[in-house]
Amino acid sequence: MTLRTIDSLGPLAGTRVVVRCDLNVPLKDGVITDDGRVRASVPTLTALVEQGAKVIVISHLGRPEGAPDPKYSLEPVAVRLGEVLDAPVSFATDTVGEDAAAKVAALGDGEVLVLENLRFNPGETSKNEAERTAFAGQLAEFADSVVSDGFGVVHRKQASVYELEQLRPSAAGLLIAAELDVLDRLTENPERPYVVVLGGSKVSDKLGVIEHLLPRVDALLIGGGMLFTFLAAQGHKVGSSLLEADQIDTVKGYLADAAERGVDIVLPTDVVVAASFSAEADHQVAAADAIEETPFGASGLGLDIGPDTAAAFAERVRGAKTVFWNGPMGVFELAPFADGTRTVASALIEVEGLSVVGGGDSAAAVRQLGFDESAFGHISTGGGASLEFLEGKKLPGLEVLGWQ
Ligand code: ADP
Ligand code: MG
Repeated sequence: MTLRTIDSLGPLAGTRVVVRCDLNVPLKDGVITDDGRVRASVPTLTALVEQGAKVIVISHLGRPEGAPDPKYSLEPVAVRLGEVLDAPVSFATDTVGEDAAAKVAALGDGEVLVLENLRFNPGETSKNEAERTAFAGQLAEFADSVVSDGFGVVHRKQASVYELEQLRPSAAGLLIAAELDVLDRLTENPERPYVVVLGGSKVSDKLGVIEHLLPRVDALLIGGGMLFTFLAAQGHKVGSSLLEADQIDTVKGYLADAAERGVDIVLPTDVVVAASFSAEADHQVAAADAIEETPFGASGLGLDIGPDTAAAFAERVRGAKTVFWNGPMGVFELAPFADGTRTVASALIEVEGLSVVGGGDSAAAVRQLGFDESAFGHISTGGGASLEFLEGKKLPGLEVLGWQ
């Protein structure tokens, strides 16, 4: 079965449509530092506005603890949404309380209202199904139908993602449909060579995806913090770099499995080693098997892949027909350690085929380094969700929309 589409909801003019978006953007001192998710929500909202629906947008922001917390108010996000939609967007100062009820009742056809952060209500993320269903019931009071479009949360069994969709006629929005279209192309007969680039901070976050992808890819390129656990598995010393000692045996298993299957696990031959975790720290390039032979000795920190590795990775990426990239190659937030990520991102742009960037920090890295997003085949708005999809897991927020 495939996803139910917005069309399946029938004519929507004059009806109240609650749209579950993922407007969980990074904020610094109340200012949105990356509005990618706000912009990604536009196609669905515009389509509903053009149909003359009364559009009620719901989302979470950050991790407030089930109670109002001004730090996590969606108000600045509602303002930004008005700017990108180029239309007036009103805002309710609560989610299911008096202000929300009054503003929903006053909403005109083709108008947009954003309700306050879902997670100001304990029912949204409660482990208790009855509590989630009760909160979903309050949200459903505002809805003639529900459109689910928060791809970043479809792997979560939460009231607005899972229970609400069962209480009213519901369908997937255009963002979820587009994300699945691309992820499907990565799982169903990807064009070869199929190269996956993995980085980021921890191997333990990515075990499921490594395991699932190993039999399916032609090459797996390993950068980021996780590369040191791979180097350690090969018997190399890694100084004070990020190392998950308890994963060394698992990683040894992957290396053996890959060798048996004829899949290349490509590991760095050089890394950038720094004296400390700082943009001002002394740093130099070292061979991957001689990290402790820099002047920093055993206290050296590997914070990026080296230039030879970056060039080799870029060549593998450019030669591929399908590429999935998750996880920055180094600590790109600090300028001296962003080169590896920059080089790999540049290569992704040149891929003649499908190139997909998945992962919140990876997407942020691409934007922060000044790349034009449209140059990539696809930048997923959902890190965890896209990884779990690629792991072959069943995602509750998709199942509830008819996906199997
Ligand atoms: P994504 O959100 O794209 O899935 P992750 O959350 O797994 O990515 O990892 C992102 C983080 O990994 C970044 O903040 C980056 O600084 C960090 N990182 C990358 N390389 C290293 C490294 N060598 N040492 C420590 N942290 C690293
Ligand atoms: Mg992340």
